[in-house]
Amino acid sequence: MKEHPIVIIGAGVCGLSIAKLIQNQNPEIEPLLIEKSRGLGGRMATRRSEKSTFDHGAQFYQKTGMEFLHDLFLKTERVHTWSQFQGEECFASNLGMTDLAKELAKGLLIKKETRVIKLTKQNHLWFLETDQGEAISSPCVILTAPVPQALELLDQSAIAYPLELKSLEYTMALVLLLTLKQAEPLPTPYVEPLESDILSITDQHQKGVSASQAWTVVFKHEFSKTHFENDPVDTLTTAIEQVKASYPGIQIESSELKKWRYARPLKTWHSSFQVISRIPDLILAGDGFGGDRIEGAYRSAEATFQHLNLKKI
Ligand SMILES: Cc1cc2nc3c(=O)[nH]c(=O)nc-3n(C[C@H](O)[C@H](O)[C@H](O)COP(=O)(O)OP(=O)(O)OC[C@H]3O[C@@H](n4cnc5c(N)ncnc54)[C@H](O)[C@@H]3O)c2cc1C
Repeated sequence: MKEHPIVIIGAGVCGLSIAKLIQNQNPEIEPLLIEKSRGLGGRMATRRSEKSTFDHGAQFYQKTGMEFLHDLFLKTERVHTWSQFQGEECFASNLGMTDLAKELAKGLLIKKETRVIKLTKQNHLWFLETDQGEAISSPCVILTAPVPQALELLDQSAIAYPLELKSLEYTMALVLLLTLKQAEPLPTPYVEPLESDILSITDQHQKGVSASQAWTVVFKHEFSKTHFENDPVDTLTTAIEQVKASYPGIQIESSELKKWRYARPLKTWHSSFQVISRIPDLILAGDGFGGDRIEGAYRSAEATFQHLNLKKI
């Protein structure tokens, strides 16, 4: 069994940023990231279809408070400003948001397609069991999954935590990916239509991500929750009807539905990370702690990194 100085569960922006901050300060400490998915970036997700490319999680980031990441992303020379949100510039990559996660992941030790299913404490170490049958150990584990998923893992491992954490709920999101034959241009590349079940529409072509006309349509929590477990074909039809009601002129070439069970935290924990155990260390981090959005996930990463520094891990 291999012992790692630090194990980070989850290669979303929070987990990747913690590892990068550690590597940046001390290249001799090599944290291991464990990610259950094939791709990197978690909710910074990009889907490529035959004709189109869609960001179907985060659409953009804003640089305030995360200049470290912004400077790193600028090195790709693919980052550009494409819109404004609440008066601040929005940044994205021409290759989609996962491109930025891949940049962040460069040089990091990452085990993909591996889900951590149980944590067991023995003296000063955590033993991690994975669905690949591996056993990994570390004196310091950081868990960056969305809070309800993190708590599921703690429950399975019979690890106690502050019960108020259960009140940290997330919105659900159904996301419709549309390749269009024809559509009137949106007034801006990112819109939040009023009086509709639609939360936002991003024009991926105007954004510079997709060669063809392609929209990412994110539905509001109530609509998403109502239809989340329904028959996928019926849900796809209902979702398309909603878009056509608001944009009768559109002609759709192809469509696909994506789902996020844990999309955005409805409220944020009172501190940017939560210590669950001190020896061995177990820390919860992610946007549920630092705040909604990429900036919040990064805030949590930076606070967790400072905490590790103070403890001289
Ligand atoms: C539809 C949608 C639109 C959004 N739009 C924006 C936007 O425009 N701008 C913005 O700033 N933010 C946006 N957000 C929010 C933003 O994407 C998130 O706040 C941010 O990406 C969260 O990062 P994170 O690292 O905290 O969590 P995540 O990205 O969820 O990363 C957690 C990772 O942990 C992995 N994991 C979980 N459990 C395990 C396990 N047991 N073993 C191994 N791996 C595990 C997951 O697979 C995941 O990769 C949006 C989110 C959604 C869903």
